[in-house]
Amino acid sequence: TRREGFSSIPNIKWEDVGGLDSLRKEFNCYIIQRIKHPEDYEELGMDKEVGFMLYGPPGCGKTLIAMAVANEAGANFIHIKGPEILKKYVGESEQEVRKIFSRARTCSPCIIFFDEVDGLTSERGREGAGVVERVVNQLLTELDGADQRHGVYVIGATNRLDVIDHALLRPGRFGRVVYVPLPSADERGLILKALARKRPVSPDFDFNAFASREACKNLTGADLAALVSEAAMTCKQEKEKHVDQGISYDEPLVIKTSHFEK
Ligand code: ATP
Repeated sequence: TRREGFSSIPNIKWEDVGGLDSLRKEFNCYIIQRIKHPEDYEELGMDKEVGFMLYGPPGCGKTLIAMAVANEAGANFIHIKGPEILKKYVGESEQEVRKIFSRARTCSPCIIFFDEVDGLTSERGREGAGVVERVVNQLLTELDGADQRHGVYVIGATNRLDVIDHALLRPGRFGRVVYVPLPSADERGLILKALARKRPVSPDFDFNAFASREACKNLTGADLAALVSEAAMTCKQEKEKHVDQGISYDEPLVIKTSHFEK
């Protein structure tokens, strides 16, 4: 189990993420290859780590892909939720930001994932405005500390890009702003395949046909994950029903199309 704010290499693999092809390519080029072959980048005079800001509707894979990037790069991963940095006492929040970056430096290469960055806005009312401003300033200080940041990458995520302090989005900070949209029908098929990777699914289950159904329109990756879990549960219940009725059930448990119909 992962503890909030502590570092470890996540066990989410590239294959666990469905779709998001162009984002994968960007992460590969800006973070993964750079961690694996730093010398190539130094040769080109690229001496500053690039940061990303992912925005878009909830449940579409922002957290998942950030974890997969760390796994693929063999980097540590620190998961921080924006609002959790905001502490009660004066100075504590800034100290928290310093601690996060210093922890990341000691276990570099490391990716710091800042979820809910929109929680760090002065829109939270006048009372919180002072602390938010100080936290954002401390963040900027850490992000701009070029030589100290060696091997520390930042990925931010938000559902509300519009409320984020623009200073955070400048190059060298969370500079590459990427929209992570609702998946298309094709992408829903790829997400379903990724979600089914470790489950016993009937070989005749047609992922693409299922994902193209009208009823699947507008579903997020998180919705699809819930559907697959439901189908697995239905599969289990089917076996139990047989057993309850005294009918022997020798078949292996396999998730079938019919389990998705419930
Ligand atoms: P939030 O804005 O709420 O933090 P998010 O975009 O970070 O949302 P995730 O936490 O990455 O969303 O996704 C939630 C869950 O939905 C994942 O753990 C996974 O099970 C499933 N999921 C979402 N997108 C994908 C995807 N592209 N491929 C595979 N699974 C996905």
